[in-house]
Amino acid sequence: MGLPVGAPRVRFAPSPTGYLHVGNARTALFNWLFARKHNGVFVLRIEDTDEERSRSSLVDGILSGLSWLGMDPDEGPYRQSERTDRYAEVVEQLWEDGYLYACDCSREDVLARTRNNPTPGYDGYCRERELERGPRTALRFRTPDTGSTVVHDIIRGDVEFPHAAMEDFVCVKSTGQPLFVLANVVDDRDTKITHVIRGEDLLPTTPKGLLIWSALDERDSVPLPAFAHLPMLVNEQRKKLSKRRDQVAVEYYRDRGFLAEAFRNYLALLGWSPPGDREKVDVETLIREFRLEDVHRAGAFFDVKKLTHLNGEYIRELSTAEFIDAVRPWVAPEPERGWAPATGTPPWPAERFDEQIFAEMAPLVQERISVLSEVPSMVDFLFLDEPVIDEQAWSERVARDPRAQQILRSAIEAYEHCDWDRTAIQAATRAVVEMAGTNLSKGQAPIRLAVTGRAVGPPLFEPLELLGRTEVLRRLRSALSRVEAV
Ligand code: GLU
Repeated sequence: MGLPVGAPRVRFAPSPTGYLHVGNARTALFNWLFARKHNGVFVLRIEDTDEERSRSSLVDGILSGLSWLGMDPDEGPYRQSERTDRYAEVVEQLWEDGYLYACDCSREDVLARTRNNPTPGYDGYCRERELERGPRTALRFRTPDTGSTVVHDIIRGDVEFPHAAMEDFVCVKSTGQPLFVLANVVDDRDTKITHVIRGEDLLPTTPKGLLIWSALDERDSVPLPAFAHLPMLVNEQRKKLSKRRDQVAVEYYRDRGFLAEAFRNYLALLGWSPPGDREKVDVETLIREFRLEDVHRAGAFFDVKKLTHLNGEYIRELSTAEFIDAVRPWVAPEPERGWAPATGTPPWPAERFDEQIFAEMAPLVQERISVLSEVPSMVDFLFLDEPVIDEQAWSERVARDPRAQQILRSAIEAYEHCDWDRTAIQAATRAVVEMAGTNLSKGQAPIRLAVTGRAVGPPLFEPLELLGRTEVLRRLRSALSRVEAV
């Protein structure tokens, strides 16, 4: 299929880190939205010039994160580690054209010489030494002495970088390895990128890229892309998200049971607001409304609470069948057939899981959760021989509540004889708790704890019916003997 004339070409260019960082996912999303909106091409490029970073296992997490979010690339992944010949060719050209010079200064030399300089960075010591290129020389770019480079940024306006403050930066290390700033520009040129949409942390390197760009234009002029530098993501202390303090891997959120649609929707709000200040916005609307011009400049708060709330809304909108499907990896994972959360298997033996019982409970559970990983602890009592008792709640609501024994005892008597369906069980329970001088919502606590192990959860009477009279009575008797034993 031919591309429409003038179709934009954008790229997402992560360095391989082993996982997809949420900030990078937001960058990828803004590129993807822009490409979808303008019928453009979304290119993936892996910036793995660093040798130790070029292992393919470090790329898998990025690919699967993108795919989970529904943002598979239209083109690529290109890998910089496969393009070293091309970079060597460009270096040759820049050398011949006089833009590069060899430098044999060590980092220590430079530091010692420049310690008291007003402008930090390299002092141009080797500029006129006319050293030959060799195995121990780096290649530096000769930046102009006067004037300035202006980055025309769609979000930030014109940002000016005076050349006097720009050092002669390294383009090729003494090992012969091209640096990011060079490979990045060569790739953007070769893949005809029209819009560079990336994090604001890269703005300071942009003027260097522009100098290389115009040096290469001398032989082969390539239209300069437009630039848009996106605000950084920050945590509640307004600090840049950090791997040590914050959960930054997209896969962490996937594992906890965030829905891809909800997560993608939330990412779109980080630095941009859909018209009308709505927060829950479907992907077609995002694509239609997204404009780089409307992206904010200020850091964007990655608010996990808001994300969680939004996820709950998405979960409640699923049909029961969709919900059951979505939650399957947490309740009945089939790692050999698909993805399963790294947080582990559910607490019950696989063969004890009962699809039908779960399907009955599903709508009750769906109303009450914000993330899918909450589900196992809400239904585990149905598939375990013994409920997992919340000991603190037990001691407050059962052991130390004088009414609890009476309620348990009368519930046993009542449940031995009542009809076994949710309405009858509820009526019998109401009579029991009212006799004990309390109401249904408070008085059911000992029964709930005895049967489910927890003080809170979905409505109680459906699960009692599902568990069956015999099992419910057994659990109540065992709870009663535990309180009586104290
Ligand atoms: N590889 C760079 C990074 O991961 C991004 C480069 C770019 O988007 O131009 O920070």
